[in-house]
Amino acid sequence: MEKELKSFFKSLVLAPSPSGFEQPAQNVYRSFVKPYADELLNDVHGNVIALKKGTGKLRVMIVGHADEIGMMVRYIDDDGFIHFTAIGGIDATILPGLKVKVYHGNKVYRGLIGRKPIHLLKGDEKGRSPQISDLWIDIGAKNKKDSEKKVCVGDFITFDPGMEMLSRDLVTTKATDNKSGVFVAAGVLKALSGEKTKASIYAVSSVQEEIGLRGATTSAFGIDPHIGIAIDVTHATDYPGMDKKQVGDIKLGGGPVLAIGANINPRILELLKKAAADAGIKPQFEAAPRGTGTDANAIQLTRSGVATGLISIPNRYMHTPTEIVSFSDLEGTVKILAEFVRKLDDKTNLIP
Ligand SMILES: [Zn+2]
Repeated sequence: MEKELKSFFKSLVLAPSPSGFEQPAQNVYRSFVKPYADELLNDVHGNVIALKKGTGKLRVMIVGHADEIGMMVRYIDDDGFIHFTAIGGIDATILPGLKVKVYHGNKVYRGLIGRKPIHLLKGDEKGRSPQISDLWIDIGAKNKKDSEKKVCVGDFITFDPGMEMLSRDLVTTKATDNKSGVFVAAGVLKALSGEKTKASIYAVSSVQEEIGLRGATTSAFGIDPHIGIAIDVTHATDYPGMDKKQVGDIKLGGGPVLAIGANINPRILELLKKAAADAGIKPQFEAAPRGTGTDANAIQLTRSGVATGLISIPNRYMHTPTEIVSFSDLEGTVKILAEFVRKLDDKTNLIP
């Protein structure tokens, strides 16, 4: 991956952006897409929309969600320890011992998630997984007063894993779910810079997906698109304990994943397949027989309906601070979507 894109990806994943607090990541998005957009639109919900005007009437929305899972300060006890609640789906089993950052206004405090040591766990505590209520965050405060000088109820918290390359292609960090999608939306605009397209492209970095597809709901209503493509991550199933009979066969680095099912307009699926073939990228496929848990679901059900597609990046260890994605999957997704947009014009038939 070229240097500029790699550093954009790094800035995106490391920018803190739990649902409801996305603006640090949105600032990274704004400054990257600015040179490639005719207009930058910011709505009251926090969505950022980069518009590249086309020569025709068709409006296509491509969207990745900027929000990540995180935590929030709920209560500070007399000893100065922070008790917290989850923002989005967090598995408490992975939390003990993790380093975190607590954000208070412009200040950032380092902390760690504490749990009683194994020696001191009693009876049933030993056999069961920890709950969030068994854990706390230690920022090194002397007591409640000292802690309250730094943080307060409602402050948000993120994981603090940095970003590491595991190989030339595989990167591990937090929030590849779904800064990957934001990266692709921006990458498509960059790939099409200097080109005239017939369709107008609304490249959206949406908010609050992890807590109910909320930003896609409002941005899709505002844009009123003919076509909406969500870019998200999906579970890679190529690691121990994954039952392919239950979850399908998706390989990390095996190519972008096209979803098939009720949430996907069949004409859009055919166009995505053709775009992939013309771009020289071999996609993987996943069965999605119902509404999906992605922004594609909210977009499809907007107004009188939108022709939707879903393209996903294989991701290992979703909703942990050590997710893994492949740069070649990201680049392949950009290529497919750029080619897809080139194929659209006012005559594109979207009726199944
Ligand atoms: Zn997620």
